[in-house]
Amino acid sequence: MTYHPAEDRYSKMVYRRCGKSGLKLPAVSLGLWHNFGHDTPHQVKRAICQTAFDHGITHFDLANNYGPPPGSAEEAFGEILRTDFAGFRDQLIISSKAGYEMWNGPYGEWGSRKYLIASCDQSLKRMGLEYVDIFYSHRFDPDTPLEETMGALEHIWRSGRALYIGISSYNSQRSREAAAILRDMGVPLLIHQPSYNMLNRWVERDGLTDTLDELGVGSIAFTPLAQGLLTKKYLGGIPEGSRAAQEKSLNSNVITPEMIAKIKALDEIAQSRGQSLAQMAIAWVLRGGRITTALIGASKPSQVIDCAGAVSNLDFTEAELAEIDRHAQDEAINLWARSSEMG
Ligand code: NAP
Repeated sequence: MTYHPAEDRYSKMVYRRCGKSGLKLPAVSLGLWHNFGHDTPHQVKRAICQTAFDHGITHFDLANNYGPPPGSAEEAFGEILRTDFAGFRDQLIISSKAGYEMWNGPYGEWGSRKYLIASCDQSLKRMGLEYVDIFYSHRFDPDTPLEETMGALEHIWRSGRALYIGISSYNSQRSREAAAILRDMGVPLLIHQPSYNMLNRWVERDGLTDTLDELGVGSIAFTPLAQGLLTKKYLGGIPEGSRAAQEKSLNSNVITPEMIAKIKALDEIAQSRGQSLAQMAIAWVLRGGRITTALIGASKPSQVIDCAGAVSNLDFTEAELAEIDRHAQDEAINLWARSSEMG
């Protein structure tokens, strides 16, 4: 069936300027890490993307390795671009990344010029695009000179393969260095993509949020729902088909009685705000305007609708924030390392 986007889509979403750039991003963005590989029916992928666009979500985040198998999420999205979003390219912000293992041999991961440029070309081919809007270095490579990795991003940017450049999961110090190298080459660093949610606050601990403010770089927080933990879905056990049931990247052993008690307490706060817990978790990440956009994932369209609804209440009282902090702290659980290794 031919897809016609909702006419009122732009009135449903809030758009926020990305750092000091001219680019505005929707407060909620959609990532295609999970549920866009060969393990998910194509109709579900289409429905998730259509629902997102219908609710004003203009930003779709990909990476070379999203699947399974790696590359299949970009292929699926390329198909959706052709069947559903043809004619809307200029209304979309599409990103991709390279950094994690993508192909065999010494040139298939990390941060060399060889890998990044070849991977960007492969991503464009899989999606059938002439350019992506944002291209990221997916992770800092300790063994490649940062000048080389940033030089590859500069080439990608200058050759028109990407309109903007980003980095993901770089700490505060590395981000400063990367931004300075790019600045010297005349390339602005648009955006940083770190993990961030109520249970994972490394960006605050590390000083990254302060650094990004100072540099005028925007930010897109991934796993704002802690992979689904910060929703009501696990309160009655582990539902079939959920991420924890599949043991993909969310380890079921983090769902302890103590964790459930915290989530229940958070859910009560969300209810008192007239929001779902997922909506409050997204609003929390976006509070105060320091994070440009919350990057969610979804396994069904109804989740996208729920998450997009977060924008109707983004403000918190001091008392609400203190109450959240009483129940949710920066947790040292291995889930986060695993998620940033895989994403
Ligand atoms: P998330 O939003 O924290 O978790 C998404 C999961 O939460 C969904 O798959 C779904 O779980 C559940 N969910 C979403 N909305 C819900 C709702 N309203 N009610 C109940 N459950 C809901 O984010 P994520 O998928 O882990 O990551 C988001 C994106 O961040 C990725 O797609 C990717 O683009 C990016 N990312 C980047 C990196 C990196 O290194 N740069 C790493 C990881 C992720 P079920 O599937 O169980 O239904």
